[in-house]
Amino acid sequence: MLKCPYHGCKFKSKTLMRLIRHVRVRHPLNGKCPACGREFKEVMCHIAHEVRDNADEDHAVYYGLYSKSKGGSQSKVLSWARDVAMSVLEVDDGFVEFGRVRCRRDERV
Ligand SMILES: [Zn+2]
Ligand SMILES: [Zn+2]
Repeated sequence: MLKCPYHGCKFKSKTLMRLIRHVRVRHPLNGKCPACGREFKEVMCHIAHEVRDNADEDHAVYYGLYSKSKGGSQSKVLSWARDVAMSVLEVDDGFVEFGRVRCRRDERV
């Protein structure tokens, strides 16, 4: 399961697409960056900048959830950001995922 990254929100979803729909409806970007709390006129530009230039994982989570870019040079960044979002927001106990490394259930300690 993937959990909503917003503090105090109990929403969980099996799929990233559903979580993306949830955050866009329930938590629209309102001029404040959800990752670092700073205020910007164009929050999405700031988030995209942090992701593209600094590969910042906190911002990548939100980039993966809010970015509407399709194809082109953005798609590589976006799919990385979505991988980050999925590994950061994964809450299914019994199954752990760190980036591209998957730990099998039977390897649990
Ligand atoms: Zn939420
Ligand atoms: Zn920020």
